[in-house]
Amino acid sequence: MNLVWCEVDVGALRHNVASLRRLLRTGVRLAVVVKANAYGHGLSLAARAFLAGGADWLCVNALEELHRLRGDGIDAPVYVMGYVPREDLEALVALEGRLVAYNRETIEGMSRAARKVGRTARVHLKLETGNNRQGVPAPELIELARLCKQQGVVVEGVATHFANIEDTTDHTFALQQLRRFEEGAALLAEAGMPAPMLHAANSAATILLEDTQFDMVRAGIAAYGLWPSPETLVSAVRKHREHVALRPALTWKSRVAQLKTVPAGAFVGYGCTYKATHATRLAVLPVGYYDGYDRKLSNTAHVLVRGVRAPVRGRVCMNMIMVDVTDIPGVRLEEEVVLLGSQGAEAVTAEQMAAWIGTINYEVVTRIGEHLRRIPRDGTSPPAAQ
Ligand SMILES: *Cc1c(COP(=O)(O)O)cnc(C)c1O
Repeated sequence: MNLVWCEVDVGALRHNVASLRRLLRTGVRLAVVVKANAYGHGLSLAARAFLAGGADWLCVNALEELHRLRGDGIDAPVYVMGYVPREDLEALVALEGRLVAYNRETIEGMSRAARKVGRTARVHLKLETGNNRQGVPAPELIELARLCKQQGVVVEGVATHFANIEDTTDHTFALQQLRRFEEGAALLAEAGMPAPMLHAANSAATILLEDTQFDMVRAGIAAYGLWPSPETLVSAVRKHREHVALRPALTWKSRVAQLKTVPAGAFVGYGCTYKATHATRLAVLPVGYYDGYDRKLSNTAHVLVRGVRAPVRGRVCMNMIMVDVTDIPGVRLEEEVVLLGSQGAEAVTAEQMAAWIGTINYEVVTRIGEHLRRIPRDGTSPPAAQ
C-alpha cells in the first residue's frame, strides 16, 4: 500500500497538449518540456502521454533524463537544454540527443563524439537576447556556426529564452527580445548559414505572442494544466485567449496513519507552535518536508479529508504532519487524504500552495519528491484499486 503518492491524469495531459496545439500556427512543432521529473509528474509517464496527445519533441535539462527516456523506449526527438560535460557528449550523441550549444568547447566535443560514435552531432545554438543566462551575442553565434561547419556538427536550430513574459502583463521586454532574436537569425542567414529551425517560446509566449512561435515552441507548465502566472491569465483574457482550457493533472495523496484526540491546552508538534483551544481530533499523516511538503506549510496549509479542508496543526516534520479533523466525522485509519489537487468539490491548487509558501506553482510541483510513486490515471475511467 502506498502511503504517499501522486496520481497523474494522463487524459488531462493529452488534453493540454491538444489545447496548446490549437494555438499554434500551421507547421509549428510542439516540444513539451519534461525536465524536473516532468514538473513532478513522472518523466516517462508524462512523456508518453504528451506524445500520445500529439507532442512532436521533448525537452529535458540533463543527459540523465534523455538516458531514462530512451531506456523507457521513447524515441521521439529530445532537445537537451542544460549543460552536458564534455566527457558525456559521446553518450549524448549515441542517444541522438540534440544539445544546446553556446561555446567552442562543446562544439569541438560534439564533433569528436560524433566521429567516435559514428552518428550525427546536432546542436541548437543559443542566442543571447536579454535573459543573460545561456547564450551568446549574434557575432559570436556566427563564429560558432562557422566552427560547426568546419567540424561537421549540424546546426539544427537557433534558440533563445524569454526573461520577462510571465511576470508581467507588459510585454515590452519580451517583444524587444523577439526583435533581437529575429535580427540575430537574419545575420546568420546573411552569413550564408540560415538556421533550419528557430525556437523561442515557452508556455506564456506560446499562448500570448503568436509571433514567437517560429518553427517550434517549448511548452512546459501549460502542458501540465497550470497557468504560468496570474499575469499570463490576465493577458490571455485581454487577448481573448481565455478559451485555452488547461486541466491540472496531478493529485498528491497520503493516508491517515493515526487518529487521536488531544485535550484543550495541548501543544502539537516541534516547538509547541500550536496550542489546542478545545478538545481536538488529530490525524497524523506520513508525509513531511522530505517528501517536498514544505515546512512553510506549518500551521498554514489545509489538506482534504472526505472532501473537507483540514488545517495543518503545528510544524511540518521531516516525515509527518498533523491535521485537525475535529469537524470531519468518521475519519478512519488509512483513509485517503489529498495534499494537492481536488477531492469532492474542494481543491488545494498548486497556486494556493505556492501562495502559502511564498513561491510559484512551478516550484510546488517540481519539488514533490521523486521517490514517491507516480500512478497514471485516466480522468475518464474510475481509479483502479490500490
Ligand atoms: C523550462 C523551460 C521552458 C518551459 O517554460 P514554461 O514556462 O514551463 O513553459 C522553455 N524553454 C527553456 C529553455 C526552459 O528552460
